[in-house]
Amino acid sequence: MAKCSRCNRSIKPEALECPYCKNPLKAFGHPGIPVYQATEDSFLCDHCLYHQDDSCNYPQRPYAKSCTMFHDKEKPLVEEPVNSSSRGSITTIKFWIRRHRGLLIILILIIISVLLAVI
Ligand code: SF4
Ligand SMILES: [Zn+2]
Repeated sequence: MAKCSRCNRSIKPEALECPYCKNPLKAFGHPGIPVYQATEDSFLCDHCLYHQDDSCNYPQRPYAKSCTMFHDKEKPLVEEPVNSSSRGSITTIKFWIRRHRGLLIILILIIISVLLAVI
């Protein structure tokens, strides 16, 4: 259960605004665009990746109290895909076979030729 950053009460994660204090939680009324909000005594930019790498050109920087583009500088920008090692090795083998298909056909033909010569 999510918490409202203003009144600290429990709210539904998909709520567009806090039902208690009417704090807006999503931008443009769209559930997929969260509005990140700073606590009363801090600014979002202090913890934002785009402030750290100096790529933000929003006018509210460095004193943003709410922002839709905030990204926590402690979290990676792109999440690593969770893959099991066996799935990874099967994918690698499939990729290798696809890439060396011609070589594999020649090897199979050589093996068949050697077997026919021996028999
Ligand atoms: S994206 Fe928002 S929170 Fe991040 S530095 Fe810019 S204004 Fe601040
Ligand atoms: Zn609230």
